[in-house]
This record gives sequence, structure tokens and C-alpha cells, in this order.
Amino acid sequence: MLNVKIFGIVQGVGFRPFVKNLADANKIVGTVANRGSYVEIFAQGADDDLKNFFDALQTKNPPRSAILKVDVKNLPDENFSEFKIVDSVHEAGDIFVSPDIAVCEKCAAELFDKNNRRYLHPFINCTACGPRLTILKNMPYDRERTSMGDFPMCDACAEEYFDKNSRRFDAQPICCNDCGCEVYLLGKNLRGHDAIKHVRKILAGGGVVAIKGIGGFHLACDAKNFSAVQRLRDSKIRPTKPFAVMFKNISAVERECFLSDAEKNFLDSPQKPIVLLQKKFGSIAANVAPEINKLGAILPYTPLHLLIFDFPDEIKNFPDALIMTSGNPSGVPITIDDDDALKNFDYCDAILSHDRKILLRADDSVMDFIDGRPSMIRRSRGYSPLPIFFDAAKKISVLALGGELKNTFCLAKNNLFYASPYIGDVGDLRTVEVLENSIDRMKNLLEINPEVVACDLHPRYQTTALAEKISKELNVPLIKIQHHYAHILSCLAENNFGGEVIGVAFDGTGYGLDGTIWGGEFFICDTKNFERAASIEPFMQAGGDKSSREGWRIALSFIKNLDVARELNLADEKNLRGQKFLLEKKINCVRSTSVGRIFDAVAAILGVCKVSTYEGEAAMKLQAAAERSTKNFRAEFKDTNEIFSEVLTRRLNGENIFDTAKFFHESLAEMTAQIIFELSARTKIKTVALSGGVFQNSLLASLTTEKLLRRGSLKILRHEMIPPNDGGICVGQAVHAQTIL
Ligand code: ZN
Ligand code: ZN
Ligand code: FE
Repeated sequence: MLNVKIFGIVQGVGFRPFVKNLADANKIVGTVANRGSYVEIFAQGADDDLKNFFDALQTKNPPRSAILKVDVKNLPDENFSEFKIVDSVHEAGDIFVSPDIAVCEKCAAELFDKNNRRYLHPFINCTACGPRLTILKNMPYDRERTSMGDFPMCDACAEEYFDKNSRRFDAQPICCNDCGCEVYLLGKNLRGHDAIKHVRKILAGGGVVAIKGIGGFHLACDAKNFSAVQRLRDSKIRPTKPFAVMFKNISAVERECFLSDAEKNFLDSPQKPIVLLQKKFGSIAANVAPEINKLGAILPYTPLHLLIFDFPDEIKNFPDALIMTSGNPSGVPITIDDDDALKNFDYCDAILSHDRKILLRADDSVMDFIDGRPSMIRRSRGYSPLPIFFDAAKKISVLALGGELKNTFCLAKNNLFYASPYIGDVGDLRTVEVLENSIDRMKNLLEINPEVVACDLHPRYQTTALAEKISKELNVPLIKIQHHYAHILSCLAENNFGGEVIGVAFDGTGYGLDGTIWGGEFFICDTKNFERAASIEPFMQAGGDKSSREGWRIALSFIKNLDVARELNLADEKNLRGQKFLLEKKINCVRSTSVGRIFDAVAAILGVCKVSTYEGEAAMKLQAAAERSTKNFRAEFKDTNEIFSEVLTRRLNGENIFDTAKFFHESLAEMTAQIIFELSARTKIKTVALSGGVFQNSLLASLTTEKLLRRGSLKILRHEMIPPNDGGICVGQAVHAQTIL
């Protein structure tokens, strides 16, 4: 008899029914059970049959499953008469919780099939699709341990659930029009299909609606209706930050955006992330993503989305593109329950909710592409909590709290690193509360009891305070990790590289070892130690928080001369004089090596963006400007001061703005490559890791890589599935804390 243990995404993806069918087909007797962390099989049969069964287990596994490890033992035969699925037994171990999975093609087809008993059922799902992480209370994955425990199955659903030949055999969230969840409008007496029809009428008429989804509420309106989009912007107090657009289908996407095969594969994958695509001159309203050459596109991923686009009612010209943006008040995590929705979305024309509880928030994931490879911007729904394997890790359980902006946290155990869904900006106390609750839920779900807590070095981060509190409560050590070092380690972990590297962290703001602002760092490091081998030339950042948003303030630190600042119309006279005063008297001034701020300053002097209304706005607009240039530059400069003064000269000489933006990107990439070559020559280290939020800039990442590869001997590690921005640093923190404990 074979005893097989299969580790990986084997829960909630139809794995046990698959094993049962395979066993029956091969005349195998025995059992299969969920053990919480793995699926365990006892299989007995003729040698050839066993071999076929064992091979097929690993090659014909269900499409949404992922086998990460297989253990096999030979045991003496027992008295089995058939092959059975036995009840879940709970054991602690390495746990693989499935992320939420977008509605599959078969369910989508049944949804619009008049003869199907789930015709137009907004919660149709099967063993291959539906919510997972966001409705899960505890492992193992069984109905009573999910939000669906509140909904007893009807007889017909129960029959499918227990029928091994059904697509819904063992599908925990199974339900139908006769049982299970229901949609309804908040504050109006409309339920089910009437509620959906009402919402369609509002959207088609240019209204704004809040819609409860898998991981939280979205705000929706017609993306081709300028005034509807503007009303949403004004109500949400979000003046220019781009909105994501949910398109009805791929052809609707292709009418508005350029789409490569690689981008299409991700856009239409079971994870269904938002993918940033090059815009065409189409009919999406100009205020959806103003002054940016890309558009965040997403496809419908729940049955409810499909019904909103395609419900068979009298509305004929329903929009094929809807704004679908996270429903949350600015700076606060995504809204998940009805009471908050009523409070937060009073400006909406309708709020469409449902009674399946969301237990863990999950925003949509956001992905860009660099050189044809994915570049994760926000890793959340569909991806979290899939672990990263880092072989050099130690067997110590860690909780790492991440950074302050774009917060995610990481739980690690053995060599597995589980990053949480996106939490958000932890400046607000309501976010701290959500962070704390999410940590508790994930700890419970993954059965990880941290033996060490990790956080950023910044003394005033809320995450630092929370880490101090948690480490005291758990009575375990607290380790604080320099921000940019954590960025580099997150890149090492994602690439499963445990050796020494030259780490380049180009970032917005991070607290340096010397108390100044870092963000243009060259490290020699491994997972244990780092040395700041070089940095960009420091400059003065004056004006506190404002200097992080208002690039013209940084520009003045470089220009120094008020007449030039006036000529460039950087700010009004009062502000210019005020800023000059701060710089001269060294008031509210701090030394900074932030490359992010240099992008802001260059964007300001080129007139591309003087004041950012959202994080990264200036850098995005500068990149968009550079991408409109067709020129190439091969200029070598010793440092960022020289680059800046050359950019300024070109600007004052009236040279083309797009070309100058391109020149800036090329020069910075070249300077970076030169510093790396020198460090590599000195240290003999041949591996380079690029991280930090600035490397979200696909033009800079691509140019830097290209220039580095000109000298063939270097190996470049970049991010793909873990964000280079602060959404990734929790992983780096966890790696370091585990290594040095
Ligand atoms: Zn399905
Ligand atoms: Zn039912
Ligand atoms: Fe950062």
C-alpha cells in the first residue's frame, strides 16, 4: 500500500474528488483525506495500477491546484474494499490556503442557460472557482468553517455536493437559487434579480453604485460617461488618481487598449488582476486616468459582475466598461459590511450588497509589465496567501508587519513566506485596527505562532508601535529592519537567492540608519548583514510632509536660485520665498537621498507635475512623458546633481519636454549601471538586485537592466510577483528576522 502526502494548493480546488475518480478508474482501493496542511492518500492495488494512479496524481491534477511537494511511503496492505473520501482531520503543519478564484467558463455558461437550475444565480460556483480565502474561518477547508456555514444546502445542492461525478462534488461554497446567499439593495426593499435590474438601470443612466464583491465593496459607474466619472471623483474626493475599468470582455478591452498575449493571459487568468495596459484613443472618459498613458483594465470575475453587464432585461445599450474602484473612504481599508457601506457611500444612487460575509479583506491585485514580464504593483486578491518558497530560510515562525504605506504583512514558517492581502496606508487608526484583526485571522488560518516579530526602523510608523505591542504580548523578540534593506531582501526571497548581492534600492522615503531620509541606496548585502556601499548625492528636503507631495520644493533645493524658479513658474511668490527661507535657515530640513523625490523635482521643472495629488503621480507622469520621446541618449554623469543641472539647462534652453524626460531616465540608468560596475569590480559580486518603489517605473527598470547587461557577466534579480514598492517589504523583513534569530 502506498501512503502519499501531497502538499500545495490542494484544498478547495476539487482535489479529493479528482483523487477519488482517479482511484476508481485505476481499480485502487483506500482513502483520501484533507489533513489541513496536505492531502493524504492511502492507495492499494495492483503494481501497474498503482503506478498509473501515482503518475496521474501529479500530471493530471485539477487546473486550479498546485502541487508543491509529494511524500511517498510503502506500508503493509490493509482491509479496504473501495476508495473513499474520509472526513477532514485537522493537523498542524505547512498550510496552503487557496486564494479566491474567478468564476470559471463552465459556471459562466450555466449562469446564462435558461434550462439550468442556477440560471442567473449571482453566486454560482464549483470546485474550480469561487471565493476561498475571503470566506474562510479556519482550516481545513470545509463548509462549516466558511461564511457558507450560515446557509444550509437544499436537497438538490446536497446531491451534487456528494456526487463524485458532479462538477460541484465537495465544492464548499455550493448554492443555488433555492438555497444560499442573496443580493439586495441597502435602504430599499429590492432583492435578487429586481435589485440587479435596478442597479443596471442606474449605471446605464450615468449613476454611481456601490457593489459588494469578493473581498470588499467597489464603486462603479459608466467609464465612458465623463460626468458620471467626475461625480464619483468629487464624491470620493479623489481628484486625479487613475480608476480601474472593468470591461465586459476581451474585445471591449481591445477597443480601448493595446493587449499583448502575455498581458491577455494574466488579464484572463483565474486570478483576474487589474492589468495596466497602453491606452488607445478610444472612448473611455478623459478623466478616468488623466495624463497617464496607461489604463488599469480588469475583467468580470464574479457571477454578479457578469449579471450586471449581461442581465437579460429591457436595457439594450448597457455600458461595456465600468469604473470598478475600491469602495473605501480615502486612506481607510476597503469597506466590507453593510453598516459601513451605508455610512461611507451615502452619495451613491444605490448600494448593492449580499449576505455572504467577507471575513478577510482583499482588494483587486494590480499588475504591470516590464520587458514582457509581469511586474506586480499590488499583490492581493487571487494571489494572497500563496506562499513564496525561500530555500535559505530557517525553521522559525515570524510575523513581519511591513511598512506604513501600501501595507501588507507577512507570516513565515519553515521556508514558506505568506504575504497578506493588501491592507492599505496605516496612517489612519481605523487601518491599524484592520491590520491587527487581519493578523489575528491569518495567524489562526495558517496556524503560525510567531517566535519573532519584525518591523521597520522608523520610530514613528504605526506598524512599529503595533509590532512593539505584539512582541510584548507574545513575549518574543522584536527586530527592526532598515527599510531599503528589507526591499532588497524581498527581491532576494522572491528570486529564491540566498547569496551576496549588490542591492540597489531606489525608493520614495525610508528611515535611514543615520536618521536621515534614504531612498537611493547601493548595498552590499546578504540576508544577515548589509553595508551601505554608496548612495546618490544627498540633497536637502525641506518642508516636511509637503516636500513628499510637492516636487517643486525639492526642485528648489537643486536650483537654489529664485529667479530661475520664477522663470519656470514653479510656485507662487509667497510659497517660493517661504521654501527658500526654510532651506536657508535649515528649518524643517532633512538630508535625503530619495530617488523618488528627484523624479518629483524633475517632473516639476519640466512642468509635467508640480504637486502630486496621489503617491507616485509625478513619477508616472514623467515616465509617460519620456515614453513619448523617440530619442536615445548615451550620456554619462558622475552623480544626480550633474544629471539634474543638465536637465535644468535643457529645460531653460527650451528643448523638447518629452526628450528631456527621456534623457533623465537614460542618464539615471547609466549612472546606476556605472556605480554597480565599480562595486562589482571592487567586491567581485556578480549578482544585482533591483528593488524599491521607483523600479515600478518600467522605463527605468528596463533601461537599467539593459545597460547592466551590456557587460555580460552580471546576473540581475528583479521583482515579478512581489511588488518592488512598500507592499513587498514585509517579506524582506521576515527573511532577515528569521535569518538572524
Ligand atoms: Zn466554476
Ligand atoms: Zn441549493
Ligand atoms: Fe519603500
